[in-house]
Amino acid sequence: MSPQHASETLAISGGSPVRKRPFPLWPQWGEEEKAQLLEVLESRNWGGYHPKVREFEERWAAYCGTAEGVLAVNGTVTLVACLLALGIKPEDEVIVPAVTFVATASAVSLVGAVPVFVDIDPATLNLDPDRIEAAITPRTRAVIVVHFGGQPADLDRVQEIARDHNLKVIEDAAHAHGSEWKGRRVGSFGDLASFSFQNTKALPSGEGGIVVGNASSPLDFVRSYVNQGRRPDRGWYEHFILGTNARISGFQAGILLAQLARLDDQIATRTRNAALLSAELKSIPGVMVPDVRSEVTRHSFYILPLRLRPNELGTSMRVMVSAVEAEGIPVSAYPYPLYRNEVFQKVPTRVADCPEAEKAALEVAWLQGYALLGDEEDIADVAAAFRKVAEQKRDLPPSVQIQRQR
Ligand SMILES: *Cc1c(COP(=O)(O)O)cnc(C)c1O
Repeated sequence: MSPQHASETLAISGGSPVRKRPFPLWPQWGEEEKAQLLEVLESRNWGGYHPKVREFEERWAAYCGTAEGVLAVNGTVTLVACLLALGIKPEDEVIVPAVTFVATASAVSLVGAVPVFVDIDPATLNLDPDRIEAAITPRTRAVIVVHFGGQPADLDRVQEIARDHNLKVIEDAAHAHGSEWKGRRVGSFGDLASFSFQNTKALPSGEGGIVVGNASSPLDFVRSYVNQGRRPDRGWYEHFILGTNARISGFQAGILLAQLARLDDQIATRTRNAALLSAELKSIPGVMVPDVRSEVTRHSFYILPLRLRPNELGTSMRVMVSAVEAEGIPVSAYPYPLYRNEVFQKVPTRVADCPEAEKAALEVAWLQGYALLGDEEDIADVAAAFRKVAEQKRDLPPSVQIQRQR
C-alpha cells in the first residue's frame, strides 16, 4: 500500500498526515431521527413518560432475547439499579474487571458495596474466569462482566462459577449492543444486564441506558427505582421504595427507535472492515489484533482493540498511539487499571494481583468504532498510518505527554 508514505516525514514531527479527511461522523442521523424528534416536540409530552419509551423498551428486550427492558437516563444509574434490584448491600463484595470504564466499579461503591478488581484474560481483555474463583470470599455476592470492545466475556464459565458459588451475574453490556455468544445475544445471560446509549456507544441517544432481563421481580424494582419508587398501577404521588428520578425522555426514546433501525447494518460494516484491517495490520511487526473466540458468533466491534508490543515496535505503545493519531487516525491508549484512580483509594475496594491488566496498560490501544464505518479507502489509510509510523520509528520522540481528556 502507498509506499510513498513510508518516506514522508511523520506528522508528529511536522510532516503531512496520511489522513487529511475526517472519518465517517458519529452519531449518524437522517430524516427518521428528525421525524421522531419533531413528533415528541409537537406532543408537548417532553418528560414523564412518552409512549415511545415503552415502545423502545419492548423492541430492545426482544432484540436481546429477554422478556423485559427498563429505560433510564444513563448506563451508570442502570448498573446501580441492577445491584440494588439483586439485593447487593453495603459491605457485600462484587467482582469486576480491573480494566473497564469507571462506572462498572463506581456503581458497586455507590451502593456501599466493595468492588473487587480481578485480572483480565490477555487474549480477550475480558475478566479471566480462572481468576474469578480465586477472588471469591464468603462476602462475594455478584460478578459484573464487561464484554470489552464488543467481544462477549466467557459466559459459559462465568455462569458455571456463579452457580457453584451462588453469585448473581450482571452483564455490563455497554460495549456490546448486538454481540452474540454461541448464537445468543448478550444481555440474555445475566440475572440482569445493563446497556448504555451514551453518545459514543454503538447505539446512541446522547445519554441513556437500559436494564434487560427475564425475572420480573428485579425488573419491577428497577422500573420503580428510576421513577421515584412509584408503582405502575398506583398514583403519581404514591411511593413504595427509595427511588430517584432517572427517567429518560421521549426525545431520546425516539432517537433510539430510529437508531435501532441502523444498528445491524453498522455492525455488518464494522465487522467487514475489522477483518480487512486485521489482515493489513498482521504484516506490521509488533502490531497484533486480539483473537475473537470461536464461541463469539457476532461481535459488535464497538471499538477495535490492538496490542502494540513495545519490544517489537522499538517504541512505547503511547508514543506509537500519539504518532498514529497525529497521522489523522482516531486511536486511543487503553486506560490504566481502575484501581489506580484516586477515587478507589477513597472507598473500600479489594485488588487481586492483576499482572495482565498492568501489562495491557503498556501495550493495548484501540481504534474508535466509527473509523470502521467507512469504505476500503478508509481502512487502507488506517493501515498506511500504522505502517508509516512503524517504518520510521527512528524519528519518533522518546516519550509523549499523557493524552488529554476529550
Ligand atoms: C459507557 C459505559 C458505561 C455507562 O456509561 P454512561 O455514560 O453512564 O451511560 C458503563 N460501563 C461501561 C463499560 C461503559 O463503557
